[in-house]
Amino acid sequence: MNESSTVVHVALADRSYEIEIGAALLDSVGSRLASLRKVTHVVVITDDNVAWPHGERAVTSLQQAGLRADMLTVPAGEGSKSLDSADELWNDMLELGADRRTVVLAIGGGVVGDLAGFVAAGFARGLAFVQIPTTLLAQVDSSVGGKVGVNLPRAKNMVGAFWQPLAVTIDTDLLSTLPNREFRSGLAEVVKYGMILDADFFGYLEVNAAALLARDPEVLAQAIARSCRLKADVVERDEREETGLRAVLNYGHTFGHAFEAVAGYGELLHGEAVSIGMDCAARLAAALGRIPEALVLRQRKLLEALGLPVVAPALSEEALLAAMARDKKVEHGKLRFILPSRLGHVEGVDDVPVEAVQQVLRGK
Ligand code: NAD
Repeated sequence: MNESSTVVHVALADRSYEIEIGAALLDSVGSRLASLRKVTHVVVITDDNVAWPHGERAVTSLQQAGLRADMLTVPAGEGSKSLDSADELWNDMLELGADRRTVVLAIGGGVVGDLAGFVAAGFARGLAFVQIPTTLLAQVDSSVGGKVGVNLPRAKNMVGAFWQPLAVTIDTDLLSTLPNREFRSGLAEVVKYGMILDADFFGYLEVNAAALLARDPEVLAQAIARSCRLKADVVERDEREETGLRAVLNYGHTFGHAFEAVAGYGELLHGEAVSIGMDCAARLAAALGRIPEALVLRQRKLLEALGLPVVAPALSEEALLAAMARDKKVEHGKLRFILPSRLGHVEGVDDVPVEAVQQVLRGK
C-alpha cells in the first residue's frame, strides 16, 4: 500500500477485495497485482482516449513487475459497450494466447470497466479482473459493486453479470486529463450518496464544493473514499439486488434514465441526467408531503454550486412517462420511486400517482 493512500475493504466472503485510493498509484500497479496473486499474463483493456498515456503507463508498470502485458483498445464511447466489441475482444484474447490464469485489467471510464468486466466474466468461464477507473463516475460508482455488462441495441445494460474484481486501484491523478463536463457529471453521484445515506457527508460536500470543483486532491480523495465506502456498504448487504436495499442507489435515476433516453443518448451526460432526476425526485417527495421544501432547495443549491444542471430540457411529457414505465426499476407496471424522507435517508415508494409525476415534469 502507498503511504498516503486510503483502503476501502469490500467484504463479500470469498469475493472480498480492496479499493485503494490515492495519488500516484498507477506506476506501482504492476507490483500491486503481482503481490495479489500468481499471475504471468495480463490483458489491459482500454479505450482510445485513455490508451495514451494512462494505458501505456499501466503496461509499463506491469512489465517492470515481470509480467507479460498486452493492451487491447476499443473506440471511446457508449457504442463500445456491445456484444460486438466483447466478441472482438474475446477473439483478440484467444490470438494472444490468454488462458484461465490471464488477468484482465480495465483502465478507463464506466464503459471500459463494464465491458472489460463482462469480457473477463465470460472468457474461459471467468477470469480475474482488476479495475483502474479513470473517470470520476467510474471511481465513485461503476467500479464498485461488481455489475458488468453490455447494452443490447434497444436496452441498456441488458446482458451482464455480477463479477467482482480482484482489486480496484483509484489514482486521483488520472482525473487531471478528464474534461470538466465529465468531471462535474461524476459529482452528481457523489451528492447522491450524501442525500441517500449520509447527512454529514452531504454537509462536507456543501462546505467543500469550491475545493471539489477545483479538484483539490485532498478533498477529492476524501469524497471518493467516502462514496466508495457508502456504496460498498450497500453492496455488501445486497450484492445481487435481491433484498431491495441496493435499489436506494437508484435515487434520481428513474427520472434521470428517462431524460437520458428521451433527449437521445449522448445529449445529456449520465450524471447531468441524474442531477436533474434528483431535483425531480426531491420535488416529488415534497409534493407527497415526505420532505420539506427547504430540503429540495438545499439539494438544488449544492448541485448548482457543483456546476450541475437541475432543469430538464424541453421534452415530451408523454415520451418521458413512457420511458419511466419501461425502466427496469418499474415493478409490475407500477411507478416506483426512491424518495428522500430526510437528509441522508431514502425509501422505496410504490403507487405514486401519475398526476404527481406529471406535475413534477411540468416543473411544478
Ligand atoms: P465513459 O467510460 O464513456 O467515459 C467518458 C469519456 O471520458 C470517454 O470519452 C472516455 O474515453 C473519457 N475518459 C475516461 N477517462 C479519461 C481520463 N482520465 N482523461 C480523459 N478522458 C477520459 O463514461 P463514464 O461516465 O465513465 O461511464 C458511463 C458508463 O458507466 C455507462 O455505460 C453506464 O451504464 C456505466 N455505469 C455502470 C455502473 C455499474 O455499476 N457497473 C454504474 C454506473 C454507470
